Amino acid sequence: MNPTDSTQRVVSPTTSRRSFLSMAAVAGLAAATPVRSIAQAAAQADFRTTSRAAAAKTPIRVTQLAPNVHLLQGYGGNMAVQTGPDGKVLIDSSYMPAAPRILAALDSISKDPAATLINSHWHVDHVDGNQPMHEAGFRILAHSKTRERLMTPQSIALLHVSLPAYPAAAWPVTTFDQSLTLWRNGDQLTLAHYAPAHTDTDIYIHFPNANVLHVADIWFNGVYPLIDESSGGNIDGMIAASAHALNLADAQTKIIPGHGPLGTRAQLVGYHAMLSTVRDRVATLKKSGLTEAEVVARKPTASLDAQWGKGGMTPDVFTGIVYRTVRV
Ligand SMILES: [Zn+2]
Ligand SMILES: [Zn+2]
Repeated sequence: MNPTDSTQRVVSPTTSRRSFLSMAAVAGLAAATPVRSIAQAAAQADFRTTSRAAAAKTPIRVTQLAPNVHLLQGYGGNMAVQTGPDGKVLIDSSYMPAAPRILAALDSISKDPAATLINSHWHVDHVDGNQPMHEAGFRILAHSKTRERLMTPQSIALLHVSLPAYPAAAWPVTTFDQSLTLWRNGDQLTLAHYAPAHTDTDIYIHFPNANVLHVADIWFNGVYPLIDESSGGNIDGMIAASAHALNLADAQTKIIPGHGPLGTRAQLVGYHAMLSTVRDRVATLKKSGLTEAEVVARKPTASLDAQWGKGGMTPDVFTGIVYRTVRV
């Protein structure tokens, strides 16, 4: 599945794919679980505590994508680092207890100093390590709404998760609204905000010279994605954002999804087509006047479930998200 010219280095022993879709897995969404029991299980557990405990035990896998760009995968969302004389530029910080392993992995890649941590969006599995990374010398950069959300208590309704505000050391100190260019380490990093898709804070980070693109959680590679409707996420935005990402990529681009294995443009084309198909099927049923429960019962994703229904949102949960957020 991964491009064959990537070299992979394992920093410490790992069980591959264990951490895939950690948010969903912890909430019990990875298995084919009825919605009601998901809600009960998630409500009973302190989501962040459970996730942090798992992250503390998960090794960080490092994969080289370009001469000075590496992919880092642990328990939270996929991370990446660009290295060079301008200092390290890191994308996302996983969960707080993963910080020692992430810092060790970064040190094994190069001795360049810490410079910038970019948050791809506000979700806990991408920002919980902000404070230790800040203390290690990274200055945090993100979309302005990511800063707003980290400064105030948040919730993810679908997962029944409530999160307190983060302390100031975890807040982005540089923010932007539309787009930003960083000239670093021989590349022209382009950061830009998507219209609300997975949340209202999602950005992509493009390394055109390295031909690497981190697309954030608008892409869960290979599975039905989580769309956080309580943070402004919606299916139409997900489709538009994946189309936007496709326009930035060519056949050789190494595309980092928020979750799942490193991807190719061809795989993102398939994901975009899947999202569009589900959207159209659900929109047609919703327009005909059916309720959410009636549409879920019709199993509009049935023909797609063998390929997309394992490891992410269950078909029924995903159909419900699409029903609630689709514009008809
Ligand atoms: Zn995520
Ligand atoms: Zn997310």
